[in-house]
Amino acid sequence: MADFSELVIISGKGGTGKTSLVACLASLFKSRVVADCDVDAANLNLILNGNVVEKKDFVGGKKAVIKSDLCTVCGKCLEVCRFGAISQDFVVDRVACEGCGACHVFCPTSAIDFSPRRCGECYTCTTADGQPLVFAELLPGEENSGKLVTMVRTEARKQAETKNIPLIVIDGPPGIGCPVIASVTGTSHAVIVTEPTGSGIHDLKRILQLTAHFGINAGVVVNKSDINTTHTSSVKALCEKEGRAMFFGGIPFEPKVSEAQRKGITILDYAPTSEASTAIRNIYKRIKKNMEES
Ligand code: SF4
Ligand code: SF4
Repeated sequence: MADFSELVIISGKGGTGKTSLVACLASLFKSRVVADCDVDAANLNLILNGNVVEKKDFVGGKKAVIKSDLCTVCGKCLEVCRFGAISQDFVVDRVACEGCGACHVFCPTSAIDFSPRRCGECYTCTTADGQPLVFAELLPGEENSGKLVTMVRTEARKQAETKNIPLIVIDGPPGIGCPVIASVTGTSHAVIVTEPTGSGIHDLKRILQLTAHFGINAGVVVNKSDINTTHTSSVKALCEKEGRAMFFGGIPFEPKVSEAQRKGITILDYAPTSEASTAIRNIYKRIKKNMEES
């Protein structure tokens, strides 16, 4: 049984202010590891100012590479590739290749290399407040971000275990796809960030189904909650009706949040007395209380 908890912050789509909230929570939880699992757009380290202390290669999925010196141009690979990834002059398009391996299996001269490749890098940092942060980057055009999320979480868990840190705060990717599932699996608590719009509520319903499916104790935060108070009330009612999630609160729209982002600092540091900062501190207290009581 792990001696740490894992709190994942997710959203149904990008642009909800999730990462800004994660950066604030990371600074409020004093003893924590941060795992930036938004591997397609990892940017928490820009705000938390980490110094890289370790770097590891991420070796991910396979893609075909044709070795021209062994190729007899028989055309078999072109015939079996269902993804149109091989050109008429027998060069594999790395982006179009889905890594199914059919060409490798059928090539009569073993001219197709199909080895695991370096697809990205995983970094462990020490942030300005002396706490660990793990993040990763995929190389351009690479996929497999679900596996890379798992690698980030594994490295974050090692940090929590070796340094006896009681909490991992995970910045999850947006949406409900494979990388999100890799981010939430096995976590105990989730915070879902949404906006008071029709599409935001639609996405929220889907993501609540996901957290319920995995038996995760979930709560909801509405960012820019005052731009449509009717929708914000609907979110609150949805949490109560479904009984699947707590309502942690709303963060009012605050232009200084964008200014803080441009300066690469949290709103708590940039405008500590703003309404948004007060709301975030209150949300932090509710999240902490909920984690302590459940
Ligand atoms: S199947 Fe092999 S030998 Fe035939 S064209 Fe493709 S790479 Fe070349
Ligand atoms: S691995 Fe599959 S998708 Fe990629 S080139 Fe070969 S047959 Fe096409």
